[in-house]
Amino acid sequence: MAKSEKLEFQTEVSQLLKLMINSVYSEKEVFVRELVSNASDACDKLRYLATTKEKLLQSDPDLKIQIEIDKKENQITITDNGIGMNRDDLVNNLGTIARSGTAQFIKEATETKDLSLIGQFGVGFYSAFMVASDLTVITRKAGEKKLWIWKSDGESNFTIDESDDLEQLNSNRGTKIILSITKEGKEYLEKTRIEEIIRKYSDHISIPIFVRDTKDKEDEKLEAINSALALWTRPKNKITKEQYKEFYNHVGQMFDDPWLTSHYKAEGQIEYTVLNFIPSTKPFDLYDPARENRLKLYVKKVFITDNCPELIPPYLRFLRGVIDSEDLPLNISREMLQNNPVVKKIRNALVRRTIGDLKKKLANDRSSYEEFWSNFGPVIKEGIYEDTEKKDTLLEIALFKNSNSSKLITLDEYIEAMGKKQNDIYFITGDSYNNVINNPSLEGYKSRGINVLILDDAVDSFWTSATPNFKEKNIKSITKGVDDLDSISKKKTDDKNKKEDKSLEPLIVLLKDKLKDKVKDVRTSSRLTESPVCLVVDESAMDPQLEKILQQHNQLQQAASLKILEINPDHKLIKKLAKMCKDKASIGDIENIGILLYEQSMILDGEKPSDPVNFSKKLIDTISASLS
Ligand code: ADP
Repeated sequence: MAKSEKLEFQTEVSQLLKLMINSVYSEKEVFVRELVSNASDACDKLRYLATTKEKLLQSDPDLKIQIEIDKKENQITITDNGIGMNRDDLVNNLGTIARSGTAQFIKEATETKDLSLIGQFGVGFYSAFMVASDLTVITRKAGEKKLWIWKSDGESNFTIDESDDLEQLNSNRGTKIILSITKEGKEYLEKTRIEEIIRKYSDHISIPIFVRDTKDKEDEKLEAINSALALWTRPKNKITKEQYKEFYNHVGQMFDDPWLTSHYKAEGQIEYTVLNFIPSTKPFDLYDPARENRLKLYVKKVFITDNCPELIPPYLRFLRGVIDSEDLPLNISREMLQNNPVVKKIRNALVRRTIGDLKKKLANDRSSYEEFWSNFGPVIKEGIYEDTEKKDTLLEIALFKNSNSSKLITLDEYIEAMGKKQNDIYFITGDSYNNVINNPSLEGYKSRGINVLILDDAVDSFWTSATPNFKEKNIKSITKGVDDLDSISKKKTDDKNKKEDKSLEPLIVLLKDKLKDKVKDVRTSSRLTESPVCLVVDESAMDPQLEKILQQHNQLQQAASLKILEINPDHKLIKKLAKMCKDKASIGDIENIGILLYEQSMILDGEKPSDPVNFSKKLIDTISASLS
């Protein structure tokens, strides 16, 4: 007996379907784009398979996509003679969502009720449920005997049946999707409407698309609605902006406008065509841990793979588009791609070209480049850490927040503006600009007008740890080591300070003793002007922000290293405490205040007090004492 099964959708699919069916998402028409795109991918996959198994194409060699509208039955049928699916493919593809980041996407779209996110996500096959009450998928995998029927009404279940009636498909392979159109989807039962949608979204599809109304005469000769030419093979001046956008939306599964379009043919030792885009918005899975790229590799116009990590380094994973090589063999396998010298050359050239394009944009269109940087800057910075060869070039195109102005600056601009006596590039890391900009460690720099880069992306802690210099200037953390501010610009009160330093000695000894489990050292500092104390680390210590990130990800076994407490000799509280040291009876108070000062500087560093209960008790005691 033929097999029949009832299966449940993966939870994420059910959630996505609920979102879509209940949404008033106005652009329901995208279901045509999504189903045509899947049909075209299925034809591409078959064409690739047929490069080694010619038989698969022979009985039905002309790949095509057919759309049929039956107004009487309220049905739209989309048929392709591509690769088709077997039972396992149906279970894996039309019951689950393989795209990483889906769960996060659904959560965001549900919380924000921002349904435009659905468009950005690329709703895929399931978008058919925006206009259909029922879907039937009749499919047969190329080279296999069995035909399968998948059915669902978009609730929690779907069924899969095996069928002996092979006539249900006109070909010995491929997929037919039948949509039972709802009342709300009625407008799509018009041939002209479907043709209009195809022209809008799918003109670039390289497989011919035919649209037929069941009322049309059977023998009427149909013309393909699309131009069915691989877009990247056309001359640039024959391609409109709309066509580029439409292609980008399809190939990149991105639904914004491209920020940058790069279309060229490389001719020389190796030949290939590139049509690449940089999105103008962040793809939802940009920070997925897999860091995969989505570039599509073609060989002589035949799609080979969209899973080729060798084609571009992870720090350029936001690129979308197509590389079509003339030199690779058509039957190249995944394994062969891994150490292929042609792929390596293409990769190097792509990296060079992309960085070159970015450099030009930075020089010629700063405000637009800043938009790019806010989307992809943190990703590019991964390259500073990972690509030793390109590190300096990447640093040149990087933009930075800084303490002197609200404008983003390049390192070259930083160097150009620094005073004659300043030799180093200063930075401070932290989790957000607002937290960092008020950090007491910055005070001495601010008061002297010395600019400090504010690095608030997680990746900053990594690349700065591995990048000691840029153009012969040291890149230095201001929260590490002893400050050398006075060598750059001396404070007027310097001599007096020196004298007062001695008077601070008893206080320092006392604090060192009381805080000996909490800090490595206590010393005076010239980096403070308004705050009494701040915490810094040793020159050789790990960046505190990096230490925090590694600990959060359980990648660091040892406890956080002890910091150094620096005190401001000019601050009136410190002066008062120094005086109080002379009076033995005040020692207890000084110790309590010392602990309070230490704990509040932990808070300013974005940490919790080391002992919150004790901290709050001492705070209350101190306030009470000051009132009595
Ligand atoms: P995506 O296309 O983003 O992978 P979809 O939900 O649109 O997501 O489709 C899921 C999967 O179902 C596809 O990746 C493909 O493997 C399979 N599929 C969908 N439509 C077809 C088709 N017409 N022919 C063959 N396989 C298909």
